[in-house]
Amino acid sequence: MSSIWTKARKNTPEIDCSLCGFPTCATFARLLVTENIEITKCPIISLEDYSDKQEELTRISTDSRNITKPAPEQPEGGVLLSKPCMDSPDLLMAEMRIFNGVRPGSPQRFGVLDPVILCWLLDCVSSRYQDMRCSKELAYAWGDIEETKVHILRDGRVRMRRAKGKDHALESFRIIERTVIGATICNCCGHDLFSVLVGLAPPPTEETHTVLKAGSTISINSEQIEWNLKNQSMEVDLGKRMLNLIEPIYDVLTSQLDLMISGDFTSENTFDTRPQICKFIGMMLESSTQEYVTVFLKGLAHAHFLDNALQGLAELRQLTNEQQVNTGFVIELLKNAQKKSLSDYETTSLDNSLILMVAHASRVERGLSLYEKWI
Ligand code: SF4
Repeated sequence: MSSIWTKARKNTPEIDCSLCGFPTCATFARLLVTENIEITKCPIISLEDYSDKQEELTRISTDSRNITKPAPEQPEGGVLLSKPCMDSPDLLMAEMRIFNGVRPGSPQRFGVLDPVILCWLLDCVSSRYQDMRCSKELAYAWGDIEETKVHILRDGRVRMRRAKGKDHALESFRIIERTVIGATICNCCGHDLFSVLVGLAPPPTEETHTVLKAGSTISINSEQIEWNLKNQSMEVDLGKRMLNLIEPIYDVLTSQLDLMISGDFTSENTFDTRPQICKFIGMMLESSTQEYVTVFLKGLAHAHFLDNALQGLAELRQLTNEQQVNTGFVIELLKNAQKKSLSDYETTSLDNSLILMVAHASRVERGLSLYEKWI
C-alpha cells in the first residue's frame, strides 16, 4: 500500500519546476502533508488539466495527520539483524539501514528515501545486480546479486536473503548506500540531500540539516560542500574527470537552448544522459576516491538538475510543436532563462496556458544557474 507521501506526490504535476519555492514536487508533497502549506503555492496545480489532482491533493492535505514516528535503531557494525537462511545454513538473511542522520528514537517526520531520486540513481547499479527494479509508486526497489535477493524500502531498510556471509552483505550494503545516499530526506526541512548540497534548501531551523549527517559507510564533509570543481584542494585530475562526465550534459542543454532561441523547435535531443550519470556513480564507488565522496555527491546533484533541465526543454519543445503556441513568447522565456531573469514573470498575471511554459523554462534556468555556480 502506498504511503500518504507517495499518494500526495503522485497527485502533484511531477515536473520539478520550483515555482512553488521547493526544488521538487516530492518536497512540496512532503510539506503539504506535514506542514499544511497552501496548495495554491503550486501555480501548475490550478491549471484545468490538473483539476482531478488538485481535488485529491486538497483531500490528502485536509486528512493529513501527525504521522511522526521515532527513527529506528541503527545497526551496530552495520548489520541490524542476521540469521541463517532456513533452507541453507551457509547463507544469511540480513537487514541493514540507510542512515539519514536522524538519531534513533528522535521523531522522524518523513520517510528516509525520496522514491523519485532513489529510482533515478538505482538505474546505475543494474550492471552489478541482476534485474534491479524500482517502483516510484511503491517506493520500493528489489534485485538480485547472484543468489542474493536485495530489497530496499523507503524507510531506509535494506533486506538481503541468501547473502554469502556477513562480509558479503556488508559490501553489498556499502555499494547500495553510496549509490542512493543522495535520495535521503532531511528531517528538518523535507528536502533531499541533493537539494541541500546545491543550496536549494532553506537554512536549517536547528543546528544543521540532519541529512548532512547521513550515511553509515560514508560521511558528508561539510567543507567540501562549498568546493567547486576547480578547487585547489582537490586533485586536479579527479576534478577534470568529473567535469568530463558532466560537461557533455551541460553542452547539450546549452546547444539545444540556442537552437530553440534561434526558432528551431524541430531538432530533438538524442543525447542519452544515463551513461554519463552511471559512470559518475561508478567513479564514486571506487574505493580510491572515497576522500571526495561529498564532491561526487554534489556533482551527481548537478547532473540530476541538468537532466531535469533537459527534460524541461524537451517538454517545452513538445508543447510548442503540438499546440498553437506563440513561439515568440517561448523564445522570450528561454532568453530570460538564459539570462537568469525568469523571476521577472509573475505567474499570477499570466494566462493559464502560459504558466506551464514558464515552469519548464524555470527548470532550464535552475539547471544552468546551478552548474555555472559550481564550476
Ligand atoms: S510548483 Fe512546480 S515543483 Fe512545485 S509542486 Fe508545482 S509543479 Fe511541482
